[in-house]
Amino acid sequence: MTRQPEPLIFELSSPGRTAFTLPELDVPQASLPEGHVRDDLNLPEVSELEFVRHYTRLSQKNYAIDTVYYPLGSCTMKYNPKVNEKAASIEGLSQVHPLQPEASVQGSLELMYNLQEALKEISGFAGVSLQPAAGAHGEFAGVLIMRAYHESRGDFKRTKVLIPDSAHGTNPASSAMSGFSVVEIPSDERGNVDLDALKSECDDTVVGLMLTNPNTLGLFEENVLEVCDTIHGCGGLVYGDGANLNALLGIARPGDLGFDVLHFNLHKTFTTPHGGGGPGSGPVGVSQRLAPFLPGPIAAKAGDHYTLMMPEQSIGRLKAFYGNYGMFIRAYTYIRMMGPTGLRAVAEHAVLNANYLKAKVAPHFPIAVERTCMHEFVAHGDVSGTDIRALDVAKRLIDYGFHPPTNYFPLIVHDALMIEPTETESKETLDAFAEALAQIAEEARRDPELVHSAPHTAPVTRLDEVTAARKPVLCYKG
Ligand SMILES: *Cc1c(COP(=O)(O)O)cnc(C)c1O
Repeated sequence: MTRQPEPLIFELSSPGRTAFTLPELDVPQASLPEGHVRDDLNLPEVSELEFVRHYTRLSQKNYAIDTVYYPLGSCTMKYNPKVNEKAASIEGLSQVHPLQPEASVQGSLELMYNLQEALKEISGFAGVSLQPAAGAHGEFAGVLIMRAYHESRGDFKRTKVLIPDSAHGTNPASSAMSGFSVVEIPSDERGNVDLDALKSECDDTVVGLMLTNPNTLGLFEENVLEVCDTIHGCGGLVYGDGANLNALLGIARPGDLGFDVLHFNLHKTFTTPHGGGGPGSGPVGVSQRLAPFLPGPIAAKAGDHYTLMMPEQSIGRLKAFYGNYGMFIRAYTYIRMMGPTGLRAVAEHAVLNANYLKAKVAPHFPIAVERTCMHEFVAHGDVSGTDIRALDVAKRLIDYGFHPPTNYFPLIVHDALMIEPTETESKETLDAFAEALAQIAEEARRDPELVHSAPHTAPVTRLDEVTAARKPVLCYKG
C-alpha cells in the first residue's frame, strides 16, 4: 500500500496569493530603513482557506489524550479535566505579573499556599516547594537537598547514591549532575529491591537511595519499611521518585513510609497537561529535618496575609519567579474537585483497571513479574515462535487507533511493554485495547509481515528516531 504524501504548504504556494487583507492606509506612507527589508525568504503564498486547512490538518495529526487511548506506562496519561483549563484562564490569575506587589496578588499566593498544604497532606511531608519545572527537575532539587543536609552537618564523605536497576534514567542523571557517583542495586525475583545487595552497599559514604514506589514494574515495594530503615541506619536519606503516586493517593503516604524527600509530577498524578500540551511541574516535598533546605521562594502565611519566603538554608532558586504557575492552578482545581474521597477513588480505580487489563493481556503477552500490580504492569512484547518484537507490536497498535504503551523500559525486562490504563478509561476501552493486542499476537503468527511493516495508517511509518533527534531537519527543502 503506498500512501500519497499530502502537499506541504510550500507546494500549495502560488505567486501573488495572500491569506490576509490589510486595512486601507490611513497614515503617510514611509519606506523601511535600508537593510531592514528581506526579499529572499521565499515564503509560501496561499489563500486564507488553504492556510487554515493546512494548519488544521496538521493539528489533527497529533495523538492526544482527548482523541485516543494513551496507555503510556509510567506517564499517567489520564484525562485532563476541562474545568482545570477554565480555572487557569480566570483573568485575575492568568493576567497577574510575577513582580506585582504582594498586597495585590494575595489570591495567587493563597492558591500556592493551599496547594503546598494539600500536597503535604497527600504525601505526609512537613514542607513543599513548588519551584521545580518537571519531575527530573524535582529529582535534581531533591538530590541537592540531600547534599545540603549532609554538608550542613559537616559530613562530606558521602559520595554515592544507590539506585535500583528498575529506576527511570532521570534518577542516575540527577545524581550525576549533583556530583555523586551512582551504584546500581539489583531487583530480586519478585521485583523488589534486593535487600542483601542493598545492605552490602550501605556504609557512611551513602548519600541516599532513590526509590520509586510503586516501582517501574508497577509493583509495590514489599520491603519498603526495611529498605528505609536500612538506609537510615547508615546515615543516608531516602529519595522517593513520586512519578507513580497515582497508585497511592489517599491510601499510603510516602512521608509515613519513611521517605525523606519526594517529587510530585503534577502533570501525571494531578492532571495538568503533558509534553506538547503544556509545561510540567515537579514540586518537592520533604520531612521536617530537610525543610530548611527547600528551594524557594515558597508561599507562607503570616496571620491572614500571604507572603513569599526563602527557607533559611535553601539550596536557592531553581526557576525564574515561582514555578510554572498555570500548572498550580490546574492541579489545585483538580485536588479540590476530587476531595479526599475522590482522590482515594482515583488510586483504587487505577489499580483495579491495571489488574483487570493485566488479566486480559497475560494470555497473549506474558507478564514480566506475575504479582498483583498497582496502577500499571509490564508485559513481554515479543511473540514466542516469531521474530515479532515489542516495537512491532507497539507500531501495529497505531493501526488499531491506540497510542502505543511505553516500550523497552524498564531496562531489566526484555521487550518490555509497560501499560498504564489509568482510572479515567472505561471498561469498553480497556476491552478494545486488550482485543487489539490479542489480534496482533494472532497476526504475528499468521502474517508477520503485516506487523513488521506497521503502522499502515499513520502519515509516516517507521522513523529513524535516533537520527531524527540528533540531526533534525527543521527547514523545508523542496
Ligand atoms: C516521568 C518520570 C520521571 C521524570 O519526570 P518528568 O516530569 O518527565 O521529568 C521520573 N521517574 C519516573 C518513574 C517517571 O515515570
